[in-house]
Amino acid sequence: MLRRLLLSIGLTAAALAGCAPEPPPSAPTPGPVFVLGFDGLAPDVLEGFENEGILPAFAKLREEGATGRVRSTIPMISPPAWATVSTGVSPVGHGIWSFWVPEGGNPRGRFVDATARLAPAIWQDLSARGRTVGVINVPITCPPDSVNGFMIAGFPYPENAPLTWPPTLEREIVAEGYERDAWLGPPAAGEELEWLHRMRAIGDARRRIGLQRLFDAKPDFSFIVFTTPDRIQHHLWKFTDPEHPYYRPDAPDELKNSVRDIYVWCDDILAEVRSKLPRDATLIVVSDHGFGPAYAGLSKATVLAGFGGAGEGDVAESRNLFGGDFWLGDVDDATRAEFRRRLADLTDPSGRSVVKEVHDTRETESAGYGLELGPDLVAEEADGYLFVPGAPSAPLVGGLAPGAFSGWHRRLGYFAAVGHPVDPGVAVRDLDLMDVPAMAMHLLGEIIPRRYTHNIPRRVFPLTYFVERPMVFDGAPDGELLRPGERPPAADNAELQEQLQSLGYLK
Ligand SMILES: [Zn+2]
Repeated sequence: MLRRLLLSIGLTAAALAGCAPEPPPSAPTPGPVFVLGFDGLAPDVLEGFENEGILPAFAKLREEGATGRVRSTIPMISPPAWATVSTGVSPVGHGIWSFWVPEGGNPRGRFVDATARLAPAIWQDLSARGRTVGVINVPITCPPDSVNGFMIAGFPYPENAPLTWPPTLEREIVAEGYERDAWLGPPAAGEELEWLHRMRAIGDARRRIGLQRLFDAKPDFSFIVFTTPDRIQHHLWKFTDPEHPYYRPDAPDELKNSVRDIYVWCDDILAEVRSKLPRDATLIVVSDHGFGPAYAGLSKATVLAGFGGAGEGDVAESRNLFGGDFWLGDVDDATRAEFRRRLADLTDPSGRSVVKEVHDTRETESAGYGLELGPDLVAEEADGYLFVPGAPSAPLVGGLAPGAFSGWHRRLGYFAAVGHPVDPGVAVRDLDLMDVPAMAMHLLGEIIPRRYTHNIPRRVFPLTYFVERPMVFDGAPDGELLRPGERPPAADNAELQEQLQSLGYLK
């Protein structure tokens, strides 16, 4: 009965979409949901700028909405993190753990794209229910899905894959100046300003063209991601932080202010989105992980070489060049536990711990069939460190190459929700990225697929909210989750591999 009621509410909302008069904010009919994603927006960095008074829209959001932090995935990098926000399941469920997908006899496998996803995305679930969607630049969405609405795919871009759904949309947006979110690679020394200008211009075009499309189409569910904050913090952090070994006091102010300026840009986008959203809409703002400085490198090769005593040949090279994920190959439980202990005990020459926490990916309660594709252990670096490939004979702790990342990810990302029925002024804790799709689904008045995790913090909503609108589920916990062998054929990635080789991401 309840299920039928919720379905009819959903159908009414779909029927009303596009009609001129907006219902009042207290209307019982669920309004549209808009997810605004900022890659790498760090809650603590943001709070610092907010306290300086330069982020008025985020300050207003703190008063009027529920704001706080959200835990990223393990590993805390964009492919698994955004795939989790897209599917409502952990990497165990969607099978995307890194920039690579293990395949066949190839130890590193192939470069990731949307065909690697083992779980349906929320926009596919919504499309199947007749709801309209608009999805723009969410990472790992190329080739795009055929949805009830439109999609502009996010990076990486396999060769010959279409950029948009419907395919005819690509020509229109390219004519307007839209550019793919391709990796430009690190800026060459002395060319950082040009790199910054180019990065900002691409971001501006995505903002102008992407937001216009969403506000014209008014889909039930909108999802747009801006990756500019991540790129700028990776490569230009050193110009903004006097503590950084590569800080240059004589650098142009534009570089010194590049991190602050990109947070101000995000604030401006937030203000624009809030001013244009219908009054019955709920806005969710989310970042996939936080950010902080990378002052020194930790050599993965040294860690692996030091572990040689227990069987060097068994310890395979990690697939990601950056970050602390370790694939151990075919080792027994005792070896795995010993390696975990050693990782946790790593220290710099002065005895200070260089690893914050070691995660074993087996320790999960998530449903799904993608565990075998992931790393065995993920070491979260202590602040200021970044795991790099290194060399077996190098000291564990070393300087970072001038072209390497000078900023690196942190586990906690930013989260906010605002608009009916979210309670104002609430602090959000205990939220994981994988809980966001269930929240969006419920806000849209839809039955939630049982495969979505759904630990939605109750305090985000008024006490009576879940009494009046209980969460209703259907399907099996592993419903529609694929096994790795059931994936569609991969797109052709030759061009992509070449791009990455030239940037130094791929050996
Ligand atoms: Zn990043």
